[in-house]
Amino acid sequence: MARKRRVRGSSRKRSGSKFLPILLLLLIIGAGVFAYFSPMFEKVPPKIIAPNLISANDKSPIKFTITDNKSIKSCKVILSSNGKEFTIYSQNFLLPSKKKDIEVKLPNEIANSKIKNWVLTIIARDSSLWGFFLGNKATKQAKLIVDNTPPEVNLIAQSPSILKGGSALIIFNAKDNNLKNVYVDVGNGVKFKPIKYKKNGVYATLIAWPFNMDNFNPTIVAVDSANNITKHQLHLNRIYKKYKVSKIRASDRFINGKITELAQSDSDYANIKDKIERFKAVNELMRKKNEDYIHKMSSKVTPFSGKWSIKPFHPLRRAKQVSDFGTKRYYYYGSPDNIISTSYHVGFDLASVKHDNLYSSNNAIVVSTKNNGIYGNIPMLDHGFGLYTLYGHCSSILVKKGEKVHAGEVIAKTGQSGLALGDHVHFGILVQGVEVYPLEWMKKDWIKKHITDIFNKADKIIGYN
Ligand SMILES: [Zn+2]
Repeated sequence: MARKRRVRGSSRKRSGSKFLPILLLLLIIGAGVFAYFSPMFEKVPPKIIAPNLISANDKSPIKFTITDNKSIKSCKVILSSNGKEFTIYSQNFLLPSKKKDIEVKLPNEIANSKIKNWVLTIIARDSSLWGFFLGNKATKQAKLIVDNTPPEVNLIAQSPSILKGGSALIIFNAKDNNLKNVYVDVGNGVKFKPIKYKKNGVYATLIAWPFNMDNFNPTIVAVDSANNITKHQLHLNRIYKKYKVSKIRASDRFINGKITELAQSDSDYANIKDKIERFKAVNELMRKKNEDYIHKMSSKVTPFSGKWSIKPFHPLRRAKQVSDFGTKRYYYYGSPDNIISTSYHVGFDLASVKHDNLYSSNNAIVVSTKNNGIYGNIPMLDHGFGLYTLYGHCSSILVKKGEKVHAGEVIAKTGQSGLALGDHVHFGILVQGVEVYPLEWMKKDWIKKHITDIFNKADKIIGYN
C-alpha cells in the first residue's frame, strides 16, 4: 500500500512540470508547421534550362538559364573528366531574381586541353531556408564538347557565270560534327538556304544576284554549334548588265483612272486628297506592300528527291515582249523634268491577244491566287528548290491555292487587273524571294549550261548517277 501511495505521490508532484515538454513539443511542431507552410521555407527547387549536349570553345561561352519560383541564391559549374575536376564558375547572387541567364567562358586550360569530352555539372540553389537553411538544390548534368574545329567547306560544282540580276546553281560540301547553320550570303544581308543533296554533307542551292546590287560577293557560310565559322568565297564569273531606264508620263487620265481606283481599294491610301501624293503612295508604298507579300510567299525552299529538272518557261504563246526586266521607271507630271516618283519593273511583260491562255511550263504547287494590289490577280507557283513564277494582271485564275499544276496546264487568262493599262501578263521569276532576270529561265541553252550540266557534273564527282 505504502509503495502504491509513493508512486501516486510522485506522479502528483510532477504533474505541473509535465506541461513544459508538451509546450516545447507543441512549439517545435508549430515552428515546423510554420516553416513548412511559410514562403521563407518553400520547397520548390530552381530549374536549370540547358541542353544535354553543349559545344563550346574559348570564343563561344557555355550558356544556360536558371529560373526559380522565388529567388535564385547561387550557382556553381563544375567540369570533370577522368578524375580531373575544375570549378569554372561559382557565384552568390546578392540581388533577388527569378531568372538568370548565365554565360560561362571556358578557361583557356580547358579550351586548349587535349581532353575534348567533359561532364558539365550545374548546381543551383534558391534563397529558401528549407534544407537546413541551405536552400533547395537543383543539379543538371550535360555533355560538353570542346570544339575548336570550324566546319569544312568544299565547292563541288557551280554555274560557269552569273549575270547581274540573274541566277546560278551552287553545289558544295559542308562537314562538321555539329553543323548548326549553312547558307550562301551574297551581300547586303541577302541569304540563300541550301537543301541537302543526295549524299551526306552535300548541299545545293540556287542563288540570285539582285539586279540592283553592286557589291555582289557570294560566300558559303557554315557555322557549328560552338559558333566556329567557315566562310568560303565563291569565285563566280560575274557578268555585269546595265538595266534600262524609262520615262513615263503620269497623265491626269492615268492618275484619275487606274491610280485612284487602286488607292480606293486599300484603306491605307483611300483618303489621300492630293493626286501627286496619291500617285506616289500607289507607285511606292502600295508597290512595296505588294512586293513584300510576293517575297514572303516565295521565300520557302521546297526540297526535292531525285532529279530537279526544269523546262524553259513560255507562259504565253504568240507573245510579244512589251516591257523589260529591271528597268528603272521615272514618272513625270507635266514637264518631263518634273519627276514625281520612281520604281523598278521586276518582271517581263508579255502581250498577245485579249484574255489569252497562260501556261505553266513546269510542274508546280500553287502558293497564292490572291488579288495583290498593283499586281492584280496573280497566281504564284512554287516549282521546288526555291524557284517561283508569278503571272500578274490576270483577268481570271483557273487554279486554286495548294493545288498541284502539271507542266503544260493553263493556269490563268491574261488581263489588265492591277496597275496595267493594256491586256498583258507581268511574268516574274523569283529565287528564294529575289526577283531574277526571267529570260535566262526561258532559254533552253541557258538552263542546260547553268543548271542541268552542273547537277550532272556534281553527281559524277559525288559518285551518284
Ligand atoms: Zn510588268
